[in-house]
Amino acid sequence: MPPPHDSPIVIGAGHNGLTTAFYLARAGLKPLVLERRSVVGGAAVTEEIASGYRSPTLAHAIGPLRPSVARDMQLARRGVEFLHPDPRLIALSPDGRALEFASDMARTAEAIRAFSPKDAERYPEFCSTMARLGGFLSGILESTPPSLSAPGTGELWDLLKVGRRFRALGRKDGYRLLRWGPMAVADLVAEWFETDLLQAAIAARGIFGTAQGPWSAGTGALLLLNAAIDPAPGGSSVTVKGGPGALTSAMAQAAREAGAEIRTGAAVARVSVRDGRATGVVLEDGTEIEGSAVVSNADPRRTFLELVDPIELDPGFLAKIRHYRCPGTAAKMNLALTAFPVFQGVGNPGTLRGRLHIGPDIDYLERAFDASKYGEISLEPYLDIAIPTLQDPSLAPPGRHVMSVYVQYAPYKLAAGHDWTTERDVLASRVMRVLDRYAPGIEQLVEHREVITPIDLERKYGLTGGHIFHGEPSLDQLFTMRPILGWAQYRTPIAGLYLCGAGTHPGGGITAGSGQNAAREIVKQEIRR
Ligand SMILES: Cc1cc2nc3c(=O)[nH]c(=O)nc-3n(C[C@H](O)[C@H](O)[C@H](O)COP(=O)(O)OP(=O)(O)OC[C@H]3O[C@@H](n4cnc5c(N)ncnc54)[C@H](O)[C@@H]3O)c2cc1C
Repeated sequence: MPPPHDSPIVIGAGHNGLTTAFYLARAGLKPLVLERRSVVGGAAVTEEIASGYRSPTLAHAIGPLRPSVARDMQLARRGVEFLHPDPRLIALSPDGRALEFASDMARTAEAIRAFSPKDAERYPEFCSTMARLGGFLSGILESTPPSLSAPGTGELWDLLKVGRRFRALGRKDGYRLLRWGPMAVADLVAEWFETDLLQAAIAARGIFGTAQGPWSAGTGALLLLNAAIDPAPGGSSVTVKGGPGALTSAMAQAAREAGAEIRTGAAVARVSVRDGRATGVVLEDGTEIEGSAVVSNADPRRTFLELVDPIELDPGFLAKIRHYRCPGTAAKMNLALTAFPVFQGVGNPGTLRGRLHIGPDIDYLERAFDASKYGEISLEPYLDIAIPTLQDPSLAPPGRHVMSVYVQYAPYKLAAGHDWTTERDVLASRVMRVLDRYAPGIEQLVEHREVITPIDLERKYGLTGGHIFHGEPSLDQLFTMRPILGWAQYRTPIAGLYLCGAGTHPGGGITAGSGQNAAREIVKQEIRR
């Protein structure tokens, strides 16, 4: 049965699409969600990687998710158990030492003291500064970016409030905010700390998921934006029992209960447009479905360059979307292990419930990035690792483990003469070589390995260019410019067509920020109609 004509259609059941669908349903709009894969969740899924082993296939840590979304969706009642490992992060050094980032600031400062008493003294002030600046920015993440050409009264009022909050930050913090945003994160951390490992572990938050290195201008802004989501310098290691897939299954349940219908295995081929307004979609199997509006959780390039007939869009707009930068630099390796690996410098394996950082100094990270500029895979990649079975043994057979390894830099576009079919094994062997340096003998424990290249991210998971955040989070593609200047308010040049995914403000990460913000704007527009 086709849905009634007054139902909006949501293309994609990523966590943002599910969030938007939930809020649209709560507003009485009865959305229909169409997901091309057989499972909901997009990049937030838990899947079987080998018989008996289940792993977070892509993302292994949760944003964290906006508390208001968790509350509105009643995720706790639906059995979602958020896990907050402590320490959150352990940074490994090639000299066999390890640095623990605990949730408690004083404990982390004590751990830092073993590397540098001077850095230990500075750490608390760094944390509190990040918390203040992050606190200021978090309000901006929750708001819809203002229209720059014709701001309404409400937007001007909101801008005034932002201005007042900025003044309340005080001269010193205000100056820091303006100065640090455009800076290279390498310079920023070097102003605070002298320990290589500490600098690199913090700077990694400014480059995670980007096509930038720690010496790239503007990576300071990403560190600050991450601080707005979670100010702790080690970043978020929040996860969910059962992996991210357990979270998105519960989000789908919440959306259904609120009145949304969700169909999987329903790939949208085209958005139908009549007289400049989106009127529904056509599926790849030819089925036509009418809708009162269409909301795309797919990334901006996919939405406008693949799903919409170019005739419906102004050539100027199309040119800007073609210039929206979306080539990714990340890959993923999921390992099924027959036993727990021993990491050098980590006495108690129980402390590995959070994430592990491999990338011991700024130069290591920059060299890893350098290779990607020339279409090469890093000789020694930067790795962010989780071992989810430590928190949830049910993900593997008894005594066995899964290890989720995020790998950067693996450029989407490889240098001439290379492609991802042949380079897949090159990537895997480089990752294993680095891992073996920190966990000697790990290779013998690998029963199965799943290698997910940027091409797989595009083809299997629908991430254009393999970009994990639906587009580069660079200064020119953030806030009022996400995805492009003039179209940051979740609306598009086609009436009734909206965006709700990570390619919109505030961007990537499993926070549900884009989905919640988009729903607010869509409800305003569609209810007013
Ligand atoms: C390898 C990797 C590691 C990551 N690590 C982390 C991490 O540790 N922490 C963190 O917070 N974030 C992480 N992220 C980022 C985070 O997962 C994403 O930013 C976030 O999940 C994006 O959510 P979304 O709902 O906007 O889009 P997606 O999750 O990409 O969902 C979009 C959905 O739309 C569907 N779709 C696309 N086109 C169509 C179509 N034509 N028809 C129907 N359906 C369609 C897709 O199949 C997909 O399900 C990672 C991402 C990746 C890929």
